[in-house]
Amino acid sequence: MAAKNKYVYLFANGVAEGKGAWRDLLGGKGAGLAEMTALGMRVPPGCTISTEACRNYYAAGNRYPEGMWDALMVALQKIEQAVGVVFGDRRRPLLLSVRSGARESMPGMMDTVLNIGLNDETVQGLIQMSDNPRFAYDSYRRFITMFGNVVMGVPHKAFEEILEAAKKRAGVRTDSELSASVLQGLIAPMKGRVQEITGRAFPNRPWDQLRMSIDAVFASWHNDRAVAYRHLHGIPEDWGTAVNVQAMVFGNRGEDSGTGVVFTRDPSTGEKYLYGEFLQNAQGEDVVAGIRDPQHISALRRLMPQVYDELVEVCQRLERHFGDMQDIEFTVQEGTLYLLQTRNAKRTAPAAVRVAVEMVGEGLIDTREAVLRVEPEQIDQLLHPMIDPQAEVTVLARGLPASPGAASGRVVFTAEEAVRRREGGERVLLVRNETSPEDIRGMHAAQGIITARGGMTSHAAVVARGLGKSCVVGCRALVINEGSGYCRIGEQVIHASEFLTIDGSTGAVMLGQAPLVEADLGKDFTQLMEWADGYRKLGVRCNADTPQDAELARKFGAEGIGLCRTEHMFFAEDRIMAVRQMIVAEADEPRREALEQILPMQKGDFKAIFRIMAGLPVTVRLLDPPLHEFLPQALEEIGELAAYMRRPAREVRTRVEKMHESNPMLGHRGCRLGITTPDIYNMQVQAIMEAACELKLEGVEVQPEIMVPLVGHLKELEIVKGHIHAVAEQVMRQKGIRVPLLVGTMIELPRAVLIADVIAREAEFFSYGTNDLTQTTLGLSRDDSGMFLPAYVEQGILEYDPFVVLDQESVGELIRIGVERGRQTRPELKVGICGEHGGEPRSIAFFHRTNLDYVSCSPFRVPIARLAAAQAALQQEGDQT
Ligand code: ADP
Ligand code: MG
Ligand code: MG
Repeated sequence: MAAKNKYVYLFANGVAEGKGAWRDLLGGKGAGLAEMTALGMRVPPGCTISTEACRNYYAAGNRYPEGMWDALMVALQKIEQAVGVVFGDRRRPLLLSVRSGARESMPGMMDTVLNIGLNDETVQGLIQMSDNPRFAYDSYRRFITMFGNVVMGVPHKAFEEILEAAKKRAGVRTDSELSASVLQGLIAPMKGRVQEITGRAFPNRPWDQLRMSIDAVFASWHNDRAVAYRHLHGIPEDWGTAVNVQAMVFGNRGEDSGTGVVFTRDPSTGEKYLYGEFLQNAQGEDVVAGIRDPQHISALRRLMPQVYDELVEVCQRLERHFGDMQDIEFTVQEGTLYLLQTRNAKRTAPAAVRVAVEMVGEGLIDTREAVLRVEPEQIDQLLHPMIDPQAEVTVLARGLPASPGAASGRVVFTAEEAVRRREGGERVLLVRNETSPEDIRGMHAAQGIITARGGMTSHAAVVARGLGKSCVVGCRALVINEGSGYCRIGEQVIHASEFLTIDGSTGAVMLGQAPLVEADLGKDFTQLMEWADGYRKLGVRCNADTPQDAELARKFGAEGIGLCRTEHMFFAEDRIMAVRQMIVAEADEPRREALEQILPMQKGDFKAIFRIMAGLPVTVRLLDPPLHEFLPQALEEIGELAAYMRRPAREVRTRVEKMHESNPMLGHRGCRLGITTPDIYNMQVQAIMEAACELKLEGVEVQPEIMVPLVGHLKELEIVKGHIHAVAEQVMRQKGIRVPLLVGTMIELPRAVLIADVIAREAEFFSYGTNDLTQTTLGLSRDDSGMFLPAYVEQGILEYDPFVVLDQESVGELIRIGVERGRQTRPELKVGICGEHGGEPRSIAFFHRTNLDYVSCSPFRVPIARLAAAQAALQQEGDQT
């Protein structure tokens, strides 16, 4: 392991003090640079200031930890020796880059400064050394721009204006056409702008430049966009960033130089071929920022065949070495290839699945590794809709297909507007010339993103893929007139708020709202899921209330239904009147009349669902929510109900008012209804059992499980279970056939957990309702927590929204206790979970460790749960060996 109080790790001349595995200490970038150096690849020499130094720096009130600067000086000397030039020297100056690099890559979120060490004197040295004044001044103006922006906070625009004006005067389109003297002429005005805007002089001393750059990179960990990115990706605040100080190589030295980015496979589709972009006579930032449109990597093959061949070889080697698809940054200086970064490539879900499966085929990884490779949450993208192939659409233009899936929404031109409209419940598409890291929140809020400029590795493309948003970049036909609130796509004018549709898989931009259909999952996905199913221990069921949901869930691999809520069946338009009559009726007679109407409808629903789930268990929960939820509120509706019931409106209104509860969540609901009004549950049981018996007579295998909600006392369950069995027996006798029936309970009150051993005397299974159990444990109403929960998460009181990620400390502990006590009484007790947490990977890992039998979640989360359950099992295996 690394030594204590060692803050600086050198990589130079084929020797690296750090290791590729030390990502936590060196950051991903530093670890990659160390590893590539050790592999003997051509990496400009440099050193990494560790994340530990960064954390100590913050802890000491932004002061370098003792020994760090000295260690840096020692490392710099070695770097100088390796390159043969000296930092700050006016004749043979070394130039440096200072690059951020966190443990997990946060593309573009933090800062990097290039060409450090230039001033009016050293630039002369650079001219002499290179014999290329154009290159020297180009580097100088780039340095002022980057340093001015990153370190001194001068907006990019201020420099761009000066550059644009110069281009106009010179009559050229791109930076690379500007002459040495024009570039030289930019220096003074740019420094002048810095002075004007900041009130401070641009620092000329190389050592000041270096120190200030390091400070700025440390500080960039805390900038808004980095903070926002960490929130979205669940990256802890306290990791800090490493800083890489590295000798510059120059892609802007002429036509035999350039810079590029390659992926060892296509990050959109996963297809195996060299994918990437190259920009001749340019420095690194130009590609990523989408300032100039880069060329396809095949251009490099044409321009510099040997460099291309070497690059192909390096890519293969790195992929084999890391056993994963790599994303590689490189620069070519006068025909020589230098590697500047390698990391495991971010990829879309289709690419993740395809790469994992194909790498097994290529013998790079085994099936366990393949299952661990794909983020469960990412699978969601695969299930995303695509444009109905039958639909007629008007394609206005095509850009580059940067992140797959189709999306439509109303056009907005700024990230702020996207966030605002999304909060108002609208679906929006973010339409921009290019995106920058400040736009991250807006990108998250949007259904999809279109940009006019930029390539497949531009900021918009990379971030959209990470977020799983569909995205089209480099749509040249798009001209935005933000000020006037419209854009033009080819001939078509589109105003803000009008609908557009994009297809991030083809790059098409379409007029209006195109109809979308479900995606086709493909054979790689099926293969991966098959492997996952082989490793997981948890069963995966679905929460489905309708035959449609049940059908979908089967397609996604659900092994039964863990929660079939019956109240949804009550809300249907043609039923609600009868349901209302059933609830409002004070006398037995009208209630029974209403129940008789509802019975065949419920029975029909159950039959359809049981048939789809033939051979699989179906857990039906008896009516749960507070009755008043079904009741009419408006006078007009009350009038309608009164007419339907043939009763005076006044009487119905009084009855409705009487049923009002001030805290319905803790009120007359769940099995409390079964106690006060057994008729309703009896009707439901009759519907379930008649459906089951009739199907069984047809030869369909059915496994009904009836679940009693909100039980807190043994006696409650005893009484309700008594009714259930009475009705079930009667139905089975009448139909002349028997079906296996289990009666169990939801566990959603702390009281039920604490007496789980007692409840298990009657309950044949437990199913944790973790939504209610979270509410009742935390004393927190999910529906009313919107006002303060975000603040709680932001201020670190809660790490996550406990309704999304299970609060393991409290609710998790209750689950553990309940399982233990329940199985004391009934060792074979089947235990599942049917709250939203059943589809959330971190929670699933916990359920696995707690020895639950199954999780149940919404149909779209079923594949996610299958994969997460497999990963939990593999991780546990890994921990034990
Ligand atoms: P990011 O994390 O945003 O990708 P980097 O630190 O990788 O930032 O820097 C961005 C780009 O700057 C790199 O892709 C590379 O092209 C260029 N760059 C960084 N360091 C050097 C260097 N020492 N020599 C030449 N170019 C560099
Ligand atoms: Mg980079
Ligand atoms: Mg509940």
